[in-house]
Amino acid sequence: MTRHYSALSLFREGLNGQQGWQKAWRSPEPKSHYDIVIIGGGGHGLATAYYLAKIHDVRNVAVIEKGWLGGGNTGRNTTVVRSNYFFPESTALYDMALRRYETLSRELNYNIMLSQRGIVTLAHSEAEMEMAARTVNAIQINGTDAELFDLAEIRRRLPLLNLDQDARYPVFGGVWQARAGTARHDAVAWGYARAADRLGVDIIQSCQVEDFLIEGGRCRGVKTSRGEIRADRVGMAVAGHSSHLADKAGFRLPVTSYALQACVSEPIKPVLDTVVLSPATGTYVSQSDKGEIVIGGGLDRVPSYGQRGNLPMLEQVVSGLLEMFPSFRQLRLMRQWAGIVDVTPDSSPILGESPLSNLFLNCGWGTGGFKAIPAGGVLLSHLLATGKHHDISRPFDLDRFAKGRLIDEAAGSGIAH
Ligand SMILES: Cc1cc2nc3c(=O)[nH]c(=O)nc-3n(C[C@H](O)[C@H](O)[C@H](O)COP(=O)(O)OP(=O)(O)OC[C@H]3O[C@@H](n4cnc5c(N)ncnc54)[C@H](O)[C@@H]3O)c2cc1C
Repeated sequence: MTRHYSALSLFREGLNGQQGWQKAWRSPEPKSHYDIVIIGGGGHGLATAYYLAKIHDVRNVAVIEKGWLGGGNTGRNTTVVRSNYFFPESTALYDMALRRYETLSRELNYNIMLSQRGIVTLAHSEAEMEMAARTVNAIQINGTDAELFDLAEIRRRLPLLNLDQDARYPVFGGVWQARAGTARHDAVAWGYARAADRLGVDIIQSCQVEDFLIEGGRCRGVKTSRGEIRADRVGMAVAGHSSHLADKAGFRLPVTSYALQACVSEPIKPVLDTVVLSPATGTYVSQSDKGEIVIGGGLDRVPSYGQRGNLPMLEQVVSGLLEMFPSFRQLRLMRQWAGIVDVTPDSSPILGESPLSNLFLNCGWGTGGFKAIPAGGVLLSHLLATGKHHDISRPFDLDRFAKGRLIDEAAGSGIAH
């Protein structure tokens, strides 16, 4: 039962030591059996649980999370959403996600703070402008929005951008997607969690999946730090920990885990009202609603599961930032952190059944899976409920690596994979 709070009750709670709030979701004890168990309480796992209940009316579902909801990459990302990928398969996937994001606050009755402020991907040479024109054509033919910006348009939109033609990476123009932007990352996790809980899904935090129950060559559930949980089907949405769990299930995934870092400055008055990405430096930047400058960069190629920042990557990202916005040198940085992302050889995700029967995969999002959460949830829920692919997830099956049907989005992914 949803309780609504009036302005008076908010005031009263402030005076009464915050004792009367209703919990946004329950903390149930795990049952011994569920129809479906989902491993991973990030955006993809929680969205999958919500759509299982909402679209397929499958409610005997548990989400098992080893830490806290959104504590993985979902709560660590730089919140950019967009759908300007190159290949039609990718556009179908990412635009499905963006369209769902556009109505998600209303659907979940939870403000995900979607801000469609647009994204510019800069082009730094004549040759890159030709590629940019080709990209815009491909995106438009695939049925989503993109525009080619010349230098004058870039100057108009981004008055603080360094447009000196003697710069190390001079700007010639860029690719613009107006419907792109940002959304509040943990609100997405919390909104899906609350909505799934209300539909009967059990969300179980501080519970680590340690192994799989395998009987007759089929996955029959999971062994967790809080005991065995049987399930008819299991979904796995654990991002950078996918290869580790796949190993437990007895197969290998074409996934390499890397730390991806980001940092934020102190909050300042509004100075930047779009997202800007420079493929030359791998740095991208936006301004949060709180006023912080949010800065992301490329992967740390030194393998690590440490979810923290380090000086070499900070140096690289900050030099890319100052190349774009020299005036930001005055800013003080407040925080730096990392998340463990799951990178595939073609920079596209893996959705489909795993080599272990009854175990289904949602992984390989690399540096760009936040924008895909609503689609990842719809598609994995379809697989789990029906045992079959949705038309949009079929091209992303694991078998594409064996069959050579790669969907190479290394350029479309923006950040070098
Ligand atoms: C710094 C950074 C910036 C990024 N910026 C963007 C961006 O701007 N736009 C964008 O689209 N994407 C971005 N990404 C990528 C995006 O964050 C991820 O692709 C996306 O959040 C993946 O969601 P997920 O639900 O699959 O994984 P996660 O949110 O990582 O959730 C997986 C969960 O599984 C849990 N788990 C792992 N192992 C187990 C186990 N054995 N048992 C139980 N639970 C387990 C983890 O604790 C975790 O909570 C960024 C990532 C990082 C790190």
